[in-house]
Order: sequence, then structure tokens, then C-alpha cells
Amino acid sequence: MSSLTHTPAAELAPPAPRFAPWWKHAAEALVWLSLLAVVAMWLAGGGLSGLTDLGAAITSLGRLTALVAANLMLLQVLLLARIPAVERSFGQDELVRSHRQLGFASFTLMVAHVGLILLGYAGARLDRLLPVAIEVALDLPGMLLAVAGTACLVMVVVTSVRRTRAALRYESWHLLHLYAYLGVFLALPHQLWTGADFLASPAATAYWWTVWLAAAGSVLVWRVILPLVLSRRHDLRVQAVHDDGDGVHTVVLTGRHLARLRVAAGQFFTWRFLDGPGWTRGHPYSLSAAPDGRTLAVSVAAVGDGSARVATLRPGTRVLIEGPYGRMHPGVRRRTKVALIAAGIGIAPMKALIEALEVAPGELSVLHRVSCRGGLPLQAKVAAAVQARGGRLRLLPGPRRAEASSWLPQGWAPGSDADALRYLLPDVAERDVYVCGPPQWLDLVVDALAQAGVPQEQIHQERFAW
Ligand SMILES: Cc1cc2nc3c(=O)[nH]c(=O)nc-3n(C[C@H](O)[C@H](O)[C@H](O)COP(=O)(O)OP(=O)(O)OC[C@H]3O[C@@H](n4cnc5c(N)ncnc54)[C@H](O)[C@@H]3O)c2cc1C
Repeated sequence: MSSLTHTPAAELAPPAPRFAPWWKHAAEALVWLSLLAVVAMWLAGGGLSGLTDLGAAITSLGRLTALVAANLMLLQVLLLARIPAVERSFGQDELVRSHRQLGFASFTLMVAHVGLILLGYAGARLDRLLPVAIEVALDLPGMLLAVAGTACLVMVVVTSVRRTRAALRYESWHLLHLYAYLGVFLALPHQLWTGADFLASPAATAYWWTVWLAAAGSVLVWRVILPLVLSRRHDLRVQAVHDDGDGVHTVVLTGRHLARLRVAAGQFFTWRFLDGPGWTRGHPYSLSAAPDGRTLAVSVAAVGDGSARVATLRPGTRVLIEGPYGRMHPGVRRRTKVALIAAGIGIAPMKALIEALEVAPGELSVLHRVSCRGGLPLQAKVAAAVQARGGRLRLLPGPRRAEASSWLPQGWAPGSDADALRYLLPDVAERDVYVCGPPQWLDLVVDALAQAGVPQEQIHQERFAW
């Protein structure tokens, strides 16, 4: 890697985030081990005995689906508890994707569990299903709570199906999504009071309590306590708000001990500006300037109520932060040459990266896809930063293609996206490529990068919506 000279405010720059590639393998191994453990508990609890009776066999299968579903649900909670090692190993994109997949898988298994257990209790007779369901719900301890929990989870899953979700405001969807925690916790009593597998052996009881407490504790520690501690320690306040034109405002923040805040260019925080009612809604914004130990800056494009409010922030406004998050930072770099590809306001973290990456003249290339409607966010600042690093900036202006199957604008010469990429960046396969923008556009860029021969581990991405 280049040993280049320019490192802004080097003495004050905060320490880089820690990242060890083996964390990811360890986390994946733990997931598989936990699944093996629950299957082993089911077997040890007589899962395969007495299967000559159809009702008993169906009940046993119902127990297995319950164990796997409960395990996956708790893993899901752990995945999004913002545990730093997990976050840094997988990145938000992958975590959100896995959370979604695990969510649908655990929900399907939970529905199967309900159906199988009731059918098993009914001796495999469909005509007995309804009376048995009523009896189970009313007579077994903790079961009414479990029914309420199931109702919460059904609501969360229905509102997370893509079409329903698209019809909801983000805030409404997010608020409804929080009922998943309630659903998972309402299911606990019936597991404790009626779940034979939960209490089958001291090892099984210890396992389930460990996973439950780890999930609840992680949420409490990393999503509530640590953000509050961090916000208190750094006492962040708005210093100034600059109008950058094109509906973009840059908020500059000051605080205490910022040199000790372990954050890197390209990362983001969830921000809560304490400027009045509505402050509880956090918004993720990436740093748009390399952290220098004295100030932080975010550049925000107004797209809705929350982002538009940024323009009216007053100096002195207190700010709560959660983070830092994200794997799109200089620490993940592998090659000497770098390409940054952004769409619209996705250029904000790229500006911070341009300032922070150590590159020799000619090693940095920036492609910025801009629509006609969105203007040229942060253009002057980005152009100046690229010039200062001896890099090359190429704008890709114009409206989207009608078929929306290309990351390039209308009017771009025919040929595949990968060909265009090779034309724009002939040595793209030898570069680390940082990509940032809206999800659908980003997926098209990542596909083109793969086709152009860029290895997966050289592609670092941040989606501006989940
Ligand atoms: C990791 C990440 C980094 C981002 N960095 C920047 C940045 O540096 N500059 C910038 O201008 N924008 C950034 N965004 C986008 C920004 O968070 C949204 O534009 C903003 O939250 C919109 O809120 P709103 O109330 O104005 O609009 P709304 O109309 O409420 O939301 C518009 C869309 O923004 C997304 N969104 C809204 N709130 C959230 C939330 N709390 N979490 C995740 N997505 C949300 C949803 O997809 C929603 O459909 C980033 C997004 C993500 C996920």
C-alpha cells in the first residue's frame, strides 16, 4: 500500500475500528452449533421414541419445530442487537438480510409448530383440531400469553412483506416492528411452564436461559445503555449547519473527547437531534468528513420529515448517537488503488473516505451518479477533495433508464454494465471498490463489479435504506 504523505489532522485522528476476519467465521460456527445443540436436546428428550403412534410422531415434530423456531428467533434478536464484533464482521446490509431470512424461517417454523402440536394433541384428527386448540389456549399455563405473542409476530411479519412495507411510512413500520420483541418475550412463559424440552435436563435449561439472557442483555447493553453512555461521555452538540445547496445541509458537531471516539471515515451513526417532539426517531447518517478528533460532520439530503428538519437545527442542540456502525471504511482496504462509486447523497461518506484514504496521485477514482432531480450534492466540496488527493472524478449525470436494469443513466452507450465499468475504470479488478447509494442501484453496481472480475472481498458497500 502507498506510504503517502497526506493524513489530515493525523495526530488527533481517532483510533481505527478493530476488525478481525475470524469473528465472522466464529459467529457462523456458533449459529450452526446452536442448531445442532437444539436438535441434540430434542433427540435426548426422546424426539425419536414412540413414533409408532401418528399423533405422538406429529407432536414430536411439533416440538422440534418449536425448538428450532425459538432458537432462530433469539439469534435474530442477537443479530440486530448491534454487538460490535458481529456488526463489524457482517456489516449492516448482511445483518439486515440475514435477520429478514431468519425472521421468515423462524416464523414459518413457529406456524408449523402451532399446527403440528395441535394436530398431534388431536390424535391426527382434523375434526378435533378446533376444540383442542381452544382447550390448549385456555387450560395450559402461559398459553394465552403465547397466543398474544403469536399475534404480535404475525403482525410484524405481515408488515414486513415487501408490498405491505412499501405502503407504510418508515416510522410506522419501524414502530410496528418493535412488537417483535414483545412477541418473543410473551412466548417465554409457555416455554417455561409447558415446554418439556426447555426443562428436560439441567443442560437444556442452562442452554435456553443462556440464549435468552444473552439476547435480552445484548439489546439492553448495546442498544440502550452504551448509546446513552457514549452520548453522555461525548456530549455532542450542533456547532453549525451549512446549506450546501441542492437540498443538502451539512451539520457540524462538537463534543468532549472526540479523539477517543473510535470511528472511521465511511462509517455512520444513528442520530437523534434533541430539537423538540419527534426526537426519539433516530436516523442513520454517515460521516461526510474524515473524523479529526475535534468535530464530526454529516451531510443530509432532505427526502422526508426527519431529514428536512436538519436544516432548522440550532447551534447548541444536544445530540444522542448510536454507533459507529458500518464496514465501509479505510480499515477494510486490501489494494493500493481505490475506486469510489456513489449515487446521489451516497457521495457523503465518499467525501470522508476521499479525505481519509492514503492514496498516491492517480490511485483514486471517483464515479458519481447524479440524477437531474437531485442536483449535484456536495459537488464543489467533493471536487476539491478529489483534486487535493490527485484523484479523478467522473460525473454520470442524467435520468434513470426506463427499464431500471442498469446503474447508468439514460443515453449511456449500449453494452453491458460491466463493459461500461471496464471502460470507466479499465483496472477495476485491481482496485478496492467502495459503493454507496440506494439499494436497487447498489445491487446493479455490485453485479457489474462481479462481472468485471472484482473479487467479492474487494467490494465494500453501504446501502442508504434497509
Ligand atoms: C446506513 C445509512 C446511512 C445513511 N447515510 C445518509 C447520509 O449520510 N446522508 C443522507 O442524506 N442520508 C443518509 N441515509 C438515508 C437517511 O437515513 C434517510 O434518508 C432518512 O432517514 C430519511 O428520513 P425522513 O424522515 O426524512 O424520510 P422518510 O420519508 O421517513 O424515509 C424515507 C426513506 O428513508 C429510509 N429511512 C428513514 N428512516 C430511516 C431509519 N431510521 N433507518 C433506516 N432507513 C431509514 C427508509 O427507506 C424510508 O423509506 C442513510 C441511510 C442508511 C441506512
